[in-house]
Amino acid sequence: MGRDVMPPLDVLFIWHTFMLSLQKYLEECLRFGRMDFWATGFPWDTITACFNEDTTYNPGTSAQEVFEERTGYAWDNLNGSPVKVLLCPKDNTQIFIPWTTCDSINTTIEARDLNDIDIDTRPLGTGYAEKEFHTTCPTCSTRITHEYLQVQKFRKDAEGLVLNNYPLPGTILSPDGLPISDSPKKLAGCPRLFPNRVSVQAAVKASAVVVDIIIRKHTLNFDLDL
Ligand SMILES: [Zn+2]
Repeated sequence: MGRDVMPPLDVLFIWHTFMLSLQKYLEECLRFGRMDFWATGFPWDTITACFNEDTTYNPGTSAQEVFEERTGYAWDNLNGSPVKVLLCPKDNTQIFIPWTTCDSINTTIEARDLNDIDIDTRPLGTGYAEKEFHTTCPTCSTRITHEYLQVQKFRKDAEGLVLNNYPLPGTILSPDGLPISDSPKKLAGCPRLFPNRVSVQAAVKASAVVVDIIIRKHTLNFDLDL
């Protein structure tokens, strides 16, 4: 990687942290067919060359322009948007959620030092990056929480399996962190791949039911609200 395509320092931190979870990193590269990324490794030499004598990280204006153009995010995350834009999983309504609500909470207790408050009784924020996150879609009134988003993540993974053949996370590596097999014969009935087979079969059955309902609606003129 040349210094012109180097990301900001916080992105490098996250990338390196992800690489330290070797199983997860290998699995993601395998699932999405990005073994070239796996083989590239971390660009230590380029990173070292981007540090000035005063230990500030600066790969140059070209890298900043490339990053902001490709991602739509500010190079310095302190200049980024204070809100996260989330699409309602039900109707795609744009919901603007603050990353943190602790600022407003702190304002209400400004006379007290947060450090003096016991951590168990300290007020918790409900922003997107906080433990007690929750919001409500203004259009369909769906309550959205971390748990709700976890279910949507599973739904997205299942869609990726059915539509693009991406295996479900957690199903292609053995407990030792190695690919379960490179033999198509062994893969066919491999117990670890069971969630993938179930999801595909469920999707096929669901599709058949929907097609059947559509056919019946048109041939028998059913008044069904699909
Ligand atoms: Zn909604």
